[in-house]
Amino acid sequence: MSPVPLKNAEPAHGGVRTVSVLGATGSIGDSTMDLIRAEPERYQVEALTGNANVAGLAKLAKEFSARFVAVADPARLGELRAALAGTDVACGAGESAVIEAAARPADWVMAAISGAAGLKPALAAVDRGTTVALANKECLVCAGDFFMSRATAAGAQILPADSEHNALFQALASGNRHELTRVIITASGGPFRTWAAADIEQATLAQALKHPNWSMGQKITIDSASMMNKGLEVIEASYLFALSPDEIDVLVHPQSIVHGLVEFADRSVVAQLGAPDMRIPIAHCLGFPDRITGRAAKLDLAKIGQLTFEAPDFTRFPGLRLAYDALRTGNGATTVYNAANEVAVAAFIAQKIRFGAIARLVEDTLNSWVRAGNQAPLGSADDAIALDQQARNLAATLLPQIAAKAS
Ligand code: NDP
Repeated sequence: MSPVPLKNAEPAHGGVRTVSVLGATGSIGDSTMDLIRAEPERYQVEALTGNANVAGLAKLAKEFSARFVAVADPARLGELRAALAGTDVACGAGESAVIEAAARPADWVMAAISGAAGLKPALAAVDRGTTVALANKECLVCAGDFFMSRATAAGAQILPADSEHNALFQALASGNRHELTRVIITASGGPFRTWAAADIEQATLAQALKHPNWSMGQKITIDSASMMNKGLEVIEASYLFALSPDEIDVLVHPQSIVHGLVEFADRSVVAQLGAPDMRIPIAHCLGFPDRITGRAAKLDLAKIGQLTFEAPDFTRFPGLRLAYDALRTGNGATTVYNAANEVAVAAFIAQKIRFGAIARLVEDTLNSWVRAGNQAPLGSADDAIALDQQARNLAATLLPQIAAKAS
């Protein structure tokens, strides 16, 4: 045996791993299914879920011989049954069916439903004490303390699937918690990294949707342009790894090759690198604690040539500062931050507000909520969902005056 204490000299997982993918028809779902497709003998697909994309879900169910599939939209049960006619795949529709899918016995569950709708299904998987690869940000941003305590109580293993958090997770393995001095998550800086504040204020939807490195859905791409996405990730990191806001730094790195770094007391900094391809962190989660063969392009640093870094600008990107403020406020403030941002992004897409007004609406909503003095720890998923709704209503009330100021 090697004197170097390499982890897992033998593969930890022999045999077939049973997997469920919540949000199988989405972008993260697609990357996950791509990895499963590459080595079908390693996996048995237990359950797959979608929202309304019945055709896509039924196609996956047949290809992977899933045991159960669910769509969240209850009106689509008939359509789903018809699409699965002649197969052995059991199916259901509505929120309860999605939760049933999450609760079915699988060794590994990918939680990749978008939005707050992902919270209850992810909790259903967590409560089984299984391994949950977590892509859905809202579980942490809207209900972080509560979600992590439930995972601890159930003995569930949470594997961070978001690229920056997965990088931290990999780097953290090289030291102990008490030796950690800070973590750093990188940000591409988005399409407005070099723009003046006045130009960012007036940016159009088409300009906000031009992400330099990552190909993602519309909402997360706009959040990258405003750096609200990095704010959400700072909050995620805080809950996932039990870090204070002062222990989390953001570093702008336009090439998106270094995803996260961990600094230890001895001043060693351990980083994870990889091409900007979500199949890399997902492959790490899917194989964990082993490593499986990836599907992303190999990293060619000689070809990339230069990796550059710069400090984030909290003045031109106030959304990032607001995330730190919300974390320090606690007691539901991060739920309010997220909800207000969702309302603001929808208003920007609908051309009701300027790009610069997204952060203003989030700030006004947070301030108004703090002034009302309703802060309290969130004790359940229903508490988190109720606060999410309350914050959306508050943001919607404040929206007309923000829109009027900008015109
Ligand atoms: P997509 O919008 O591409 O996919 C969302 C998935 O959730 C789809 O399967 C969709 O079904 C399903 N869904 C939507 N609404 C509901 C609902 N109300 N109930 C049940 N299922 C629903 O999102 P992404 O894959 O991009 O992102 C998923 C999560 O991962 C998000 O929280 C995102 O922030 C996070 N994330 C994404 C990254 C990325 O690169 N895309 C990177 C890191 C994190 P249908 O297809 O039928 O609509």
